[in-house]
Amino acid sequence: MNEKPKKLINKKGLRLDGRKPDELRPVKLKVGILPNADGSAYIEHGKNKILAGAFGPREMHPKHLQRADRMVLRCRYHMAPFSVPERKSPAPSRRENELSKVIRDALLPSLFVENYPRTGVDLYIEVLQADGGTRCASITAASLALADAGLPMRDLIVACAAGKVDNKIALDLMDTEDKIGAADVPVAYMPNLNAVTLLQMDGKLSPKEFDEAIKMAIEGCKKIYDIQKEALKTKYKIIEQEEVEE
Ligand code: UDP
Repeated sequence: MNEKPKKLINKKGLRLDGRKPDELRPVKLKVGILPNADGSAYIEHGKNKILAGAFGPREMHPKHLQRADRMVLRCRYHMAPFSVPERKSPAPSRRENELSKVIRDALLPSLFVENYPRTGVDLYIEVLQADGGTRCASITAASLALADAGLPMRDLIVACAAGKVDNKIALDLMDTEDKIGAADVPVAYMPNLNAVTLLQMDGKLSPKEFDEAIKMAIEGCKKIYDIQKEALKTKYKIIEQEEVEE
C-alpha cells in the first residue's frame, strides 16, 4: 500500500497532481465508438476511463416493466475488476447498485419519456479505470451516449464534483483527495436550463463552504459541457466528411 500523503495542498497552493484548487483534471470525450450500441461515448476524466453504451428506445422486456404512458430508462453502472488497485469483485456491489440509481435519476430529466410509451432504453456504463469521481464522469459520458442514440433531449447533462481538501474548497477531487479530504459534493447539471439534476454530499461543510462548492462544481460542469458539445459535433463532422469523400 502507498503511504498516505499528509498534505493535499502544498505551500504554493497546488494539489498533489499540480492543479490549482479551482482546476479541472483533463477531460477527453469521444462519441459513437461502439458500433453495436445505438449510442455510445467514451470519457477520460483525469485517470478515469469509462465507456457508456445506450440501446433503444426499443420494446421493453420483460413486459411487466413496461409503462403505458412513458419510456423506462434502465441503467447499470459497473466497475471492472481491474479498474482499481485492489481487485474489485465482478459481482454487483451495493455501491454499484446505488450509483446505477443515482446516475439514472440524474439523466432522466433530460429525456422526453412521455414520447415513447411502452419502450425501454438500456444504458450500460463500464468503468475501466477509476480514480475518484466516476459517477460524475459516467453521467457526462452516458448523456452523450443517449444523444448519440438519437434521443431528443431537453439539454445535455454534465457532471462534476467539488469538495474540501486541507480546509480549502477544491474542484474535481481525485481518489486520494476524495478519501483523505473532508467532503465531496457531486453535481449534475443542465447548462442551458440552469438546472441541477443530482446533488449529493459526502462529509461535512459549513453552509458557506457548501455554496462555494456548488458554485465551483457548476463552473466545472460548464467547462466540461463545451468539451461534450465539441465531441458530438466532431462525430457529425466525420460523417459529413465521409459522405463528401464517397
Ligand atoms: N474505489 C475503489 N474500489 C471500489 C470502489 C471505489 O478503489 O470498490 C475508488 C475509485 O477510485 C472511486 C473512488 O473510490 O472512483 C471513489 O468512490 P465513490 O464511491 O466516492 O464514487 P465516485 O467518486 O467514483 O463517484
